[in-house]
Amino acid sequence: MTGRLYIVSLPIGNLSDITLRAIETLREVDYILAEDTRTTKRVLDRYEIRTPFYSSLYEGAEDGRVRSVVGLLQSGKAIALVSDAGTPLISDPGFPLVRAAVAAGVTVCPVPGPTAAIAALVASALPADRFLFEGSLPRKRSHRMELFAQLRREPRTTVAYESPHRLQETLDLLVHGLPERNIVVAREVTKLHEEFLRGHPADVARTLAERGDVRGECVLLIEGAEGAGDTVDPLKLEALLALAHDEGLSKKTLEKLLVVALGVPKNRAFEIAHRGGA
Ligand code: SAM
Repeated sequence: MTGRLYIVSLPIGNLSDITLRAIETLREVDYILAEDTRTTKRVLDRYEIRTPFYSSLYEGAEDGRVRSVVGLLQSGKAIALVSDAGTPLISDPGFPLVRAAVAAGVTVCPVPGPTAAIAALVASALPADRFLFEGSLPRKRSHRMELFAQLRREPRTTVAYESPHRLQETLDLLVHGLPERNIVVAREVTKLHEEFLRGHPADVARTLAERGDVRGECVLLIEGAEGAGDTVDPLKLEALLALAHDEGLSKKTLEKLLVVALGVPKNRAFEIAHRGGA
């Protein structure tokens, strides 16, 4: 008999944002595997959950824990993985464990709930039909500049996590790199001081600069480039798709040709090659 690994989402601020199933699961499993046991204990106390912690799974210790946790799962134990806030694995530890558990034949079940990226996106008033989640923005200024250069042709809304200490510098980079885009800074989502600052990078940067230092947790959202991805000549695209079909080209080769020969952005080329959308 093998056990089960549950990936349980917790609140991102407001402690009431927890599902009934999350509470039931956390009560019923044999162990809870937390990123930081002290942080998780606050949520567990609120819902009178007395399940023992197995240990913490903070990022530095993750690889060392995986083998012992998979061993427990294989011996039939049920374990709930949680992170400090929101959904585990989303800019949080857990991926090596899920991969190893699945490879060992263990059933992995999501118990879905809050994620800051999605909560911020749906209230941002930026298009939410397709979006690019960048995770946490790179610490290095030059890497952030590189990323923003790539976003010049990105048609989807970009969602990213950014530290409040770097936010002003990031906004300054956007003032120069993507000045015409609408952006949103979603701060302290679901908490007492929740706010959504909307406008062009210069507007949002000015508002925050007037306040002095930026506090609280932030999600940065950047509107997609209007018309990006639509600049490909439809006749050329049709011809290339027909040629790929006749010659029996692999999806991978077609994807490369779309990028190299027609200048289609990589993500769009992937969609066209794999899903046939043009
Ligand atoms: N696993 C989490 C999730 O599902 O959203 C994300 C964890 S990541 C280490 C932490 C980052 O998420 C923060 O630095 C911030 O950018 C964002 N974040 C988390 N909670 C937030 C909140 N209530 N409001 C705004 N951003 C938040």
